[in-house]
Amino acid sequence: MIKLLFPIHLLLVVFAFRSKNNPDHEIKTKPGNLIMISIDGLRWQEVFNGADSFLLLSRKFVKQDSARMAEKYGSPDLSVRRHKLMPFFWTTLSTQGRLYGNRIHDNLVDVKNKYWFSYPGRSESLCGYYDTLINSNEYPPNPNENVLEFLNKQKNYAGKVVAFASWNAVSNILNRDRSGILVNIPGEKIQAKKLSPEQVLANEQQFFLPQYFGPSVRWDVHTFAIGKSYMKANHPRVVHFDFADPDDLAHAGQYDAYLDATHYLDAILANLWDMIQQDPFYKNNTTLMIYPDHGRGLGEKWTSHGRATPLSYQTWLAMIGPQVSPKGEMKNSVQIYQDQIAQTAAHFLGFKFVANHPVGEAIESLDPMRRINRSDASNKSIRCVGSIDPSLRISFFLFPARK
Ligand SMILES: [Zn+2]
Repeated sequence: MIKLLFPIHLLLVVFAFRSKNNPDHEIKTKPGNLIMISIDGLRWQEVFNGADSFLLLSRKFVKQDSARMAEKYGSPDLSVRRHKLMPFFWTTLSTQGRLYGNRIHDNLVDVKNKYWFSYPGRSESLCGYYDTLINSNEYPPNPNENVLEFLNKQKNYAGKVVAFASWNAVSNILNRDRSGILVNIPGEKIQAKKLSPEQVLANEQQFFLPQYFGPSVRWDVHTFAIGKSYMKANHPRVVHFDFADPDDLAHAGQYDAYLDATHYLDAILANLWDMIQQDPFYKNNTTLMIYPDHGRGLGEKWTSHGRATPLSYQTWLAMIGPQVSPKGEMKNSVQIYQDQIAQTAAHFLGFKFVANHPVGEAIESLDPMRRINRSDASNKSIRCVGSIDPSLRISFFLFPARK
């Protein structure tokens, strides 16, 4: 049986109290905080296996000094290799949080949508719903309500829900004109009567780097600086970070830079977690959920995703916080879908997310019936054969153990 994500006694106390005294969605305990972090197109293969040696040693996809890159990210030892790439994931998250999506263990996280690219993927995560009509990154403002605007309507959370994005389409995905929440996108400054010196600096700095991928995106370091300085100055209760560097660099075919972007986003998350531990407003009262919007292809197709790129529906999910019992890398056989993220997020704060569309169930409510049906042999074999990157198996030969 799958253990519940939340301690059961805590849930029972909260729900009993709510049903008696609170007919609406509010709770009387200290309001919790939530940070949702989307990392565009970061593969589960790198999260759980570290650098792919086939790609790392490829002249086609690596321009930096190959010996230095091998030293930085390579190792014949899986645990060393993934720790080199994502040290925060493989120290803090792997001991104090949960990591879902390592398909080697039959722990599966997938997008439910059939498109496997960014707007549909982010919409599914934030709305908890796969809308078949959302099939373009140029799709107009999202008609589907998202969990952030739902939370922004709840007591203790109104005006305390914000989003910071490295890609301008997020303003449409979150339909900021309707939702009314602050959604900061590339090229926009935070406006306020009084800004902290850190906020002034973060506002400026985003204009001081080349627009390497055009004006619709900015580097994640700027999105983080604007968001972090806002958090320190204003203490929002719900924050959505939308990071994009790994996807942009992968489309450009730069595997070394894709690894660096992953490595530095891991450092950004460590920095964020460190800030949380030092701030009494956030300490021991803040949950992080981290996930991509889609996967990527294998081998030479690692640069891309979408229906023409097999297996790019495969994703992953990490979480850490006071309600997440620490189990580290999840090794149970389970199927999680991206449309469960929104309701799970709402549950962390004690709410049931209702919207103008159906919403996927929270992950805690998984029961044995929703596990993979092991009798479905054909479906099963397709998953297993296809989901393991053959190139990962040759790491040992390419990185012989040092003497
Ligand atoms: Zn992409």
